[in-house]
Amino acid sequence: MTDADVIIIGAGASGLMCAIEAGKRHRRVVVLDHGKQPGRKIIMSGGGRCNFTNMNMEADNFISHNPHFVKSALSRFSQWDFLEMINTHDISYHERDHGQLFCNDSSEEILKMLLKECKKVKVDVHLETTIDKVTQEETGSFSVSTDQGSFQASSLVVATGGLSIPGAGATPLGYRIAEQFNIKLWPTRPGLVPFTLQPPDKTKLSELPGISVDAMVTVGNHSFRENILFTHRGLSGPVILQISSMWPPGETININLLPEIDLEEILKAAQSTSPKRKLKSLLTDFLPKRLVTAMVDEPVADQALQPLSHTKFRTIAQSLQHWQLKPGGTEGYRTAEVTLGGVDCNAISSKTMEARQIKGLFFTGEVLDVTGWLGGYNLQWAWSSGWCAGQYV
Ligand SMILES: Cc1cc2nc3c(=O)[nH]c(=O)nc-3n(C[C@H](O)[C@H](O)[C@H](O)COP(=O)(O)OP(=O)(O)OC[C@H]3O[C@@H](n4cnc5c(N)ncnc54)[C@H](O)[C@@H]3O)c2cc1C
Repeated sequence: MTDADVIIIGAGASGLMCAIEAGKRHRRVVVLDHGKQPGRKIIMSGGGRCNFTNMNMEADNFISHNPHFVKSALSRFSQWDFLEMINTHDISYHERDHGQLFCNDSSEEILKMLLKECKKVKVDVHLETTIDKVTQEETGSFSVSTDQGSFQASSLVVATGGLSIPGAGATPLGYRIAEQFNIKLWPTRPGLVPFTLQPPDKTKLSELPGISVDAMVTVGNHSFRENILFTHRGLSGPVILQISSMWPPGETININLLPEIDLEEILKAAQSTSPKRKLKSLLTDFLPKRLVTAMVDEPVADQALQPLSHTKFRTIAQSLQHWQLKPGGTEGYRTAEVTLGGVDCNAISSKTMEARQIKGLFFTGEVLDVTGWLGGYNLQWAWSSGWCAGQYV
């Protein structure tokens, strides 16, 4: 039996941040992870450059059944605090659209920084460790039985992340521990994930893989404008990933493929100035030819503008600017970047991340019912929640 002050299950973003902070407080910290490597999602993140935070960090950038829950942690360990850490370690970074901050070189630098900080404060990281059982003793302390022996501590932090990318070590262990302690779970589903298509749309869009265009996509009250990418399986690209987290399965999405212009007015004007111009030729001023071919019926697209009625122009504009599409589904956890739902935030203190009813049991990061938008929000949530728990474990 190994004694410690704090056991953290999960050597990912939030678990490592929590370990560093607890270590700074001279707590004896053991981190347990079943993976061969720590921080695998950090390495994968941001296409290998880790979109580690965002300049604009608001509670509105997160989805949770308790929309206020994130506020305290985000303000106590903010994007600026994480930037200070990055600067201290001389990691160079750059800003992309919408305030997203990425490493100039590699996401490995972020992981190296975290592991270096862990080492400084003597955090004991055990990899390739299979967790068999978690129990709470009568004294209140927690025991974790593993294939590498048992560990005991007065604080247990569940930092096991969500269900996305099982190949990167995702498991439902965190949810099972919550259930074991009678903590409510919200149903989980994949977020920041590409859409698949229904068979007729798959046929219609079969020639488009690789095409990417600026688009505005709307579901209910939520609209995002970014690139949409047509793939062999369906629709992807940042705008689709964003909207996927707000998409109630089975709902129709509204796609505006020409968010910059009033197509109907442009068609009317062109009819006067260039009546002999073919509709297809005009549309390819704004959209890739293959996309025009897929979206507008051949006989109409091949006509000159002159004989087309204004009603027809409206129908064409509607089909490109109010394209109503019902996705077949999503690609699921296999490719999703995050998991929506999870441990109910109302059961957790927003200040300490400790379960309200179970002293010494903490939850951090994605295992909680907190899902950020695309753009560095999920990692900032991991840093902030891990940091907060680290002050109290
Ligand atoms: C491909 C991809 C790209 C992403 N890019 C970005 C990005 O650029 N910016 C951003 O903000 N977010 C990004 N995310 C999301 C972000 O990586 C996660 O939200 C964040 O890592 C969550 O941190 P966490 O500590 O909660 O969990 P994780 O970082 O997932 O860590 C959980 C840890 O728990 C371990 N674990 C799980 N189950 C068990 C078990 N049964 N026994 C022992 N250990 C276990 C895992 O091995 C893992 O090490 C991306 C995600 C993916 C999948």
